[in-house]
This record gives sequence, C-alpha cells and structure tokens, in this order.
Amino acid sequence: MMFKTHLALGFLIALFSLSILHPAYPFIFIPLVTILSALPDVDTEKSKFGRKIYPISWCIRIVFGHRGFFHSIFPPVILYFVLKYFHLQFLGLAVVIGYVAHLIGDACTSEGVAFLYPFSKKRISGFMRTGGFAESFVLVALILVDIYISLKKVNLL
Ligand SMILES: [Zn+2]
Repeated sequence: MMFKTHLALGFLIALFSLSILHPAYPFIFIPLVTILSALPDVDTEKSKFGRKIYPISWCIRIVFGHRGFFHSIFPPVILYFVLKYFHLQFLGLAVVIGYVAHLIGDACTSEGVAFLYPFSKKRISGFMRTGGFAESFVLVALILVDIYISLKKVNLL
C-alpha cells in the first residue's frame, strides 16, 4: 500500500483506538500512531519512508527481505516490551497500533502479509494492487471518513 494510504488508515485506526485504549495524551497519540503506521516499510529502500534512510532500509531488505519479518506481528511486540522496560509504554502502544494498522493495510493488497513470518509463510492478501485504481478509491474514502470522524470527535458535527 502507498505511504499516504498507510497514513490515512493509521489515522483512522488511531481514532478508533482512543475509545478502547484511552491513551494519556490523545493529541500526541494520534499523530504518533499515524506516523508510525509507515514504520514497517523500513524494510525497503523503495518506500517513501525507506528512501529517507536509504542505507539502513537497503541493509534491512538484504537481510530480512521486503514484507518478511518486518511485516510480521513480531517487531511491534518486541518493540513494545523493550519500550515498556524503559517505561515508555505510551510510545510502545503507539508503535503497536501504528504497526498493526500498516499490516492490516498491506493485507488488503494482492501481495499480502505473512503475519506470523518466519514461523508461517502463509500470506493474507486482498484485492488491491499497490498504487492501483482501487487503492486510490480507498484513499479518498479513508480521507473522507478521517475528516468525518475527526469533526465528530471534536463535536463540530
Ligand atoms: Zn508495507
């Protein structure tokens, strides 16, 4: 999925997570989750995020492969416990929500996601081609829903 679609979906899932998780600082939590929802694409230097840290993302892709380990549920779980150890649960929670939002998004694409990689290589995939017409449509729909729910949250609707 494209960078901007990930952000739009990350934002939406951040909004939904508020009523379940009640994070301490929602106005920090939402942008944090939104940005972190692009994080798994550190595993390719071809992504918008990966391009910014080119040597690192290239190394990760060579060692782990794109949509391999870094597109499984394990990095956020590990990161969560590491951050929790340093009393950074707030950030840990944002990592988990953002990361899962990314995996859900990629699972909607035809390339799919192996959530349990490397223990299982079974990929869950969807109908969208990354950057294709369906994704553009989904992106517009997500932005509209994002705006609608944001306005509702701040009681402007
Ligand atoms: Zn991805």
